[in-house]
Amino acid sequence: MELEMLLEKYFGYHSFKTGQKEVITSLLEGKHTLAMLPTGTGKSLCYQLPGYILKGQILIVSPLLSLMQDQVEQMNRFGEKRVVALNSFLPVEERKKVLNRLNNYKYIFISPEMLGIPFIIRRLQQLTISLFVVDEAHCISQWGYDFRPDYSKLGDIRQKLGNPLTLALTATATKKVREDIIASLGLEVFNKIESTIDRPNISFYVEELADFNEKQQRIVELVSRLQKPGIIYFSSKKVAEQMAALLVDKGICQAMAYHGGLEQNTRILIQQQFIHDQLDVICATSAFGMGVNKENIRFIIHYHMPMQMESYLQEIGRAGRDGSPSIAILLYSPGDEQLPIQLAEGELPSVQQIDWLFQQIMQIQQLDNGRINLHNDLRVFGGFTDIQWRIIEEFIHHRYQPDISIDTLRDTISEFVKERIKIKKSNIFLMKKWVESTKCRRELILNYFEETLTSKVSLCCDRCGIHLESYESNGKLSLAKHSDGDWKDYLAKILLNSEMSE
Ligand code: ADP
Repeated sequence: MELEMLLEKYFGYHSFKTGQKEVITSLLEGKHTLAMLPTGTGKSLCYQLPGYILKGQILIVSPLLSLMQDQVEQMNRFGEKRVVALNSFLPVEERKKVLNRLNNYKYIFISPEMLGIPFIIRRLQQLTISLFVVDEAHCISQWGYDFRPDYSKLGDIRQKLGNPLTLALTATATKKVREDIIASLGLEVFNKIESTIDRPNISFYVEELADFNEKQQRIVELVSRLQKPGIIYFSSKKVAEQMAALLVDKGICQAMAYHGGLEQNTRILIQQQFIHDQLDVICATSAFGMGVNKENIRFIIHYHMPMQMESYLQEIGRAGRDGSPSIAILLYSPGDEQLPIQLAEGELPSVQQIDWLFQQIMQIQQLDNGRINLHNDLRVFGGFTDIQWRIIEEFIHHRYQPDISIDTLRDTISEFVKERIKIKKSNIFLMKKWVESTKCRRELILNYFEETLTSKVSLCCDRCGIHLESYESNGKLSLAKHSDGDWKDYLAKILLNSEMSE
């Protein structure tokens, strides 16, 4: 059957989006494939459709539990029930059941941590994996903005699974990161399908303001004038909440804050309200966006400077999926780079914490006959955050060999941390350079991803001379038209519950 017919039959779509057919064809020719396609272009279909042609199972490694769940639900909605997500959310009993009948599933989503469990690998070895998919493949590379130590083992795992046909998917990866992905997965011969990262209908605008007071005032002005809906990104949950409250108090728009500190139900609700046009502005942290398929987002404002170009591009890429003109505005005040630097440092354990931990380990180890036992008390007393602790665990559980001395292990972790901070700081510095540059913003972004700008777009960026008036609207979204009492009642109830549970 022709690919278009399968697309219509199983997904109800009439044509492929850019890049999809090329990726699918490459896989069906049996070629390992690295696909770099922008967010929202339908990367998932690149492994979903081959599932109806290839015999055996499709194993998809995904770093985000919530995204995995979204994918399972989306496939269920399309009528595909042979889908399962194996991750730490799955209760142990349920996990056992799923593992016993793994053969019955066609699409198996799995988190990288699960792939570290020998028993699970043994179960997977009993299957015929016809396609091994690495979603968000940039997480493999130390140079990637979202490096996950778990991901660096995927090459070994792939080998243990008999080197199956492999698809590595990413939205944003520099050349260096792409090279790392290929090397780390051990793909000697492969096909590359890369579409441009440029989104010609999104214009860039950077504005320098004296301080956060000016920024707040400017946001009020911009939001009241710009066409909506829109997203304002913050690096701080608190500032996101303050801004949403300010916009609502001033009667400017229907806004809500969205961040990882909210209850899961509240988050789902806010997302749904935004998708259904009952909220016209979301004041969000980077927790918002993945899996939000809203076509008509007209502006993305950054109140804080992102930590690197890759995440900036991902975030602004949520605008203008319908192809209509949209604007990405970044507000900058001198010294703004300090916050991302602090955040970057906070993601990693400090050298002092590492030294302290190893002193404790040395003492315990003598009692424990040479085994390194990472007690939770060490985590608590050392003041490690979840992310920091995961890095420590990764090194101690997976990289520690009895022939390595404890001192060497400590130095390895310290070196790793120093190197990561260096990389992160240089990414922040590049972001700042972009903000301050007088050159065309689009061209600089393309250059960062080793692309060249071939044709100039008419509404390009502030450096090329655009006017914000082009993005203004005279009327707000008609909330009454879309409003649905049930949503509001539900929201009120959930907010009340979450307040009570705090
Ligand atoms: P990505 O992972 O690239 O961000 P998704 O796989 O989540 O994108 O897909 C984005 C949206 O596009 C989804 O709602 C999906 O159903 C839709 N989509 C995918 N392929 C097509 C297609 N060929 N035609 C129309 N819509 C599509």
